Amino acid sequence: MTTRRELVGTVPLAGAALAVASSFIVDGGSARAQQAPLAGHFHPKGKAPSQHTVNVLRQARNGLPLGDTRDLDEQKKGLIAPMEEMTIMADAGHVAWDMERFQFLDQQDEFDSIHPSLLRQSRLNNNYGLYEAIPGIYQVRGFDLSNITFVRGKTGWIVFDPLVSAEPVRAAWKLFQDHIGEGLPVTAVIYSHTHGDHWGGVRGLVDEADVRSGKVALIAPFDFMEFTVSENVYAGNAMNRRLFYQYGLLLPAAPHGYVGQGLGQAVSAGATGLIAPNRFVTEPIEAFEVDGVNMIFQNTPNTEAPREMNTYLPDLKALWMAENVNATLHNIYTLRGTLVRDPLAWSKYIAEALYRFGLEAEVLFGSHHWPRWGNERIQEVLRGQRDIYANMNNQVLHLANQGVTINEVHNVYEVPKELQEKWYCRGYHGSPQHNARGVIQRYLGFWDCNPATLIPLSPSDSAPLYVEMMGGSAKILGRGRELHDKGEYLLATEIVNKLVQAEPDNAEARDLLADIFEQIGYQQENPGLRNSFLNGAYELRTGISQGETANSSSPDIIRAMTTELFLNFLGIRMDSRKAEGLRFTMNLFTPDNGEQFIVELENATLTNIKGFQAKAPDLTLTINRSDLEQTMMGAKTLEAQIADGTAKVEGNAAILAALATTIVNFDPRFEIMPGTHGSAGAVALGDPYQAVPNKTIAE
Ligand SMILES: [Zn+2]
Repeated sequence: MTTRRELVGTVPLAGAALAVASSFIVDGGSARAQQAPLAGHFHPKGKAPSQHTVNVLRQARNGLPLGDTRDLDEQKKGLIAPMEEMTIMADAGHVAWDMERFQFLDQQDEFDSIHPSLLRQSRLNNNYGLYEAIPGIYQVRGFDLSNITFVRGKTGWIVFDPLVSAEPVRAAWKLFQDHIGEGLPVTAVIYSHTHGDHWGGVRGLVDEADVRSGKVALIAPFDFMEFTVSENVYAGNAMNRRLFYQYGLLLPAAPHGYVGQGLGQAVSAGATGLIAPNRFVTEPIEAFEVDGVNMIFQNTPNTEAPREMNTYLPDLKALWMAENVNATLHNIYTLRGTLVRDPLAWSKYIAEALYRFGLEAEVLFGSHHWPRWGNERIQEVLRGQRDIYANMNNQVLHLANQGVTINEVHNVYEVPKELQEKWYCRGYHGSPQHNARGVIQRYLGFWDCNPATLIPLSPSDSAPLYVEMMGGSAKILGRGRELHDKGEYLLATEIVNKLVQAEPDNAEARDLLADIFEQIGYQQENPGLRNSFLNGAYELRTGISQGETANSSSPDIIRAMTTELFLNFLGIRMDSRKAEGLRFTMNLFTPDNGEQFIVELENATLTNIKGFQAKAPDLTLTINRSDLEQTMMGAKTLEAQIADGTAKVEGNAAILAALATTIVNFDPRFEIMPGTHGSAGAVALGDPYQAVPNKTIAE
């Protein structure tokens, strides 16, 4: 199995670039000469940072708390052994992990195309090896987006958060055993939360049989299995598409491209899997021994993830803050798309951890970044992280209560100076801008309450009028270039975007908008914002692929998906417009787990209700849940299940065929920027666009 970036990585970029270059034509109507490709830029249309951008970054540098160098010491502290091999191979034969491509970050002091604060963070994330947090607690860092942590138990090792995929986990385990592990086995695994970078590599470490037999304890917060998949299913195809923007999936690691994800350098591309826990932490606070180590678990639902928990090890005075406390402001709103998180709850759970455990803890560690040592430093970090989320919640609502809208708040809200001076409150994952808008979205929704924006025309419908009123494309291009050349990039975006919306085939307009986006991208401290602008520029310049997309399912993820979730998603996949006039009532019974559903299609809407059976259904379908999984994965059709007797039907089986004609396979290659669909020289994207429910998303 390969992940998105890995497959993108297999695309011969040079070849794609050549294809673009060969279709280069100097626009007849353009007064501007086509610039030569910039040496060192990965794209033939790529531009250097302008003097305006260079000035913006220089000024940004002056505002950074560069005198506080504690991160640099903490990140290095406790290094036992660096990882010597720069790549980790996947069993499938491709490269699962590649740190070589991030070495450029350390090869010069500054880059005029990378925000100095982001560069600093990405350099810190270049740590790559085995570290001691305190005697008895070790971390392998830089093998994936997340860390893997080993805690000495009485008879073996307790593992926190086994990365995204199995191969990096095995490499981490080997490095650990070579230096520290004493050949002792894994006795317990703790999943801190539901995101894929905290459990996906578990099969690299333990056998499922040992979990089922109870030999290995596998501990997770309550409702873990439900929430591992549910967060990403309903809007999953759209999220996958949007990940190309947030994570810059088409951009090579390079000074003008991808420079890391803030939380870590990237997401590994090995084999992912999921083993169900055999113990859940259900109480708000629960204390028990894990392989002889006293642990106090604090459930923190609806914070960074729908289900998450912190853990305190009182005998070691060691506080594991999962992904609730990081060396960054985290996402309240995630650009790939998500339900907006609850920053007030998040802040309060950190405050609770501070007062329950943080007043005596001597080491603070988590699933991303590096530990903090000494109670004073720990309290400072906990208080700062508590306050950044509380401040965003409170101050944004303060502004909203004074009339500031979702369309203004990112220009009005400012992180307090005291928090700006704390590196770990700066926006390397969440940005103050998109988080501020997210808070308003959470409480008030999308509407700014101006009726003009209540039922607006679609951009492509309103844009032609703007273009006409502005005097046509030549005038817009001229003024757009002026604004671009003056460094007024956001203003330039306003008018050139209108032209691209009105005239998707206007290559000159698309190229100018790409140039504008690129400069805005270079100026961003936040990698999600940077990647979004640079990926937008990339797609405007190159177009998006119309090639085949691969579609494979991870059996572990399908198994974790409830039948109800599957049926709900079926209702989303059904195109209501194709179901007009259809009507049926179906009973579904899965004997092996005893679940019953009524599935009903009427009013062009597919619904289901668990725990009920209709008295006179049009059809009764009986199939074991374990067999249904084959159909859920796409391995075996329902027709085949019926034909060989695996599934039994009573009543009108033609209903299933009628239903099938209404079900759509989502295509993730939909266009975001106008005029980018099926462009010549487009990069084949393949598996990156794999739609859920096959995968979960790392964060
Ligand atoms: Zn994570």
